[in-house]
Amino acid sequence: MFEYAPAPESRAVVDIKPSYGLFIDGKFVDPADGTSFKTINPASEEVLAEISEAGQADVDRAVAAARKAYDKVWSKMPGRDRAKYLYRIARIIQERGREIAVLESLDNGKPIRESRDVDIPLVAAHFFYYAGWADKLDHAGFGPSPRALGVAAQVIPWNFPLLMLSWKIAPALAAGNTVVLKPAETTPLTALLFAEICQQADLPPGVVNIVTGAGETGRSLVEHAGVDKIAFTGSTEVGKAIARSVAGSRKKVTLELGGKAANVVFEDAPIDQAVEGIVNGIFFNQGHVCCAGSRLLVQESVYEPVLASLKRRMARLRVGDPLDKNTDIGAINSAAQLDRIRTLSDIGGEEGAERWSPPCDLPDHGFWFAPTIFTGVTQAHRIAREEIFGPVLSVLTFRTPAEAVEKANNTPYGLSAGVWTDKGSRILWMADRLRAGVVWANTFNKFDPTSPFGGYKESGYGREGGRHGLEAYLDV
Ligand code: NAD
Repeated sequence: MFEYAPAPESRAVVDIKPSYGLFIDGKFVDPADGTSFKTINPASEEVLAEISEAGQADVDRAVAAARKAYDKVWSKMPGRDRAKYLYRIARIIQERGREIAVLESLDNGKPIRESRDVDIPLVAAHFFYYAGWADKLDHAGFGPSPRALGVAAQVIPWNFPLLMLSWKIAPALAAGNTVVLKPAETTPLTALLFAEICQQADLPPGVVNIVTGAGETGRSLVEHAGVDKIAFTGSTEVGKAIARSVAGSRKKVTLELGGKAANVVFEDAPIDQAVEGIVNGIFFNQGHVCCAGSRLLVQESVYEPVLASLKRRMARLRVGDPLDKNTDIGAINSAAQLDRIRTLSDIGGEEGAERWSPPCDLPDHGFWFAPTIFTGVTQAHRIAREEIFGPVLSVLTFRTPAEAVEKANNTPYGLSAGVWTDKGSRILWMADRLRAGVVWANTFNKFDPTSPFGGYKESGYGREGGRHGLEAYLDV
């Protein structure tokens, strides 16, 4: 294989401050007790900035600011005026897209190709889409004059930091709510840049508040008596704890949790196309994707050609500097996540599955994991059951469509699935039987703001995106 010359994106387009306060009531403020933590670049372990850690007093302050903004300004503003702010935010995101993409890749470790071409365009698209709904709530099919809920507490993970923020904030504001959002502790920087964008857009103070911190800050926020709605995206374990803590309260809750998607390849599928879909399904964003196609189910008759082609393709994936425009697989987001991926992968080997990775040189600093597949996996293996959230694929086989459905559904999760076949009738037959919120046919990991997304079973409840996503923020 020939070598590419490095093509790094310039990081001079971003201006990272040495330290950041909390964004409350339209201003950056110091936390009450002055505690902070560091956010690092996972590709180099370089410290990027010092981030404030919000305690209970700060969360109280942020919720009070959101309540005041709701009562005095946002709930009284006509939808068409709320829409103007959302359109303005969407346009600023587009204008500053390159800067935001570089910052996202620096803090998260994802390849610039993805932050530039997928994450940030989708962020802008979400704000444009929900801006369009803000003055049409009466016509959304939720009955006459649906009302906002009030103050929304929103907690998001680190895998798509700004995209998850947009999934939360855009529908909440369009529906007339105000928000307090907590980004993940390893990826706070684009949420803080978003706070600056709110200032740039002249959004009234208190409509959006950003409190940074770890799990304890998130817990204070979701358990706060002053919030009316909780929107959480993250692990099933924390989602269950939140569901328990709000049981019996009047808070409305949506939970977007983990997944263990099956990507099902039938013998009549175009193999080259399916292999691209398998690679996109599991190696996109280092596999840090709740709907990643982490279980490949291949029909036995095409197992060998599919595996041979997949290995050839994997040998051409470029792992390395996230800011290099040639990079396919960037850094693992944190040392803790790398440790989880390693532990589960080692267990896969101990359980008897066969492990394979292409030869690849990993950088000396930072957190890296080579793209990996396990063959000879059975349904009882932990690598087939548990979410690895990394670039690790388990390969299983099936003989009949019924067996494919049985195996695909044999999981505590139900977020997404993929089907690869030449026959439209088989796609519909499978989609009817797969217990998954999203079923992609002859493609994978396709997102659009107009389309609802969410899970069954332990993947959570509620839908984000589309008209359904709006409903979660309205009293209907
Ligand atoms: P996590 O649950 O550890 O953390 C998610 C967020 O919750 C973080 O901001 C964290 O600080 C906060 N948090 C932690 N403990 C909390 C508590 N007790 N109360 C309130 N907040 C708390 O998950 P993670 O490791 O950051 O993210 C990976 C997980 O997210 C995976 O399981 C993945 O599948 C899931 N995810 C789901 C979707 C979806 O739409 N279904 C999308 C992206 C990620």
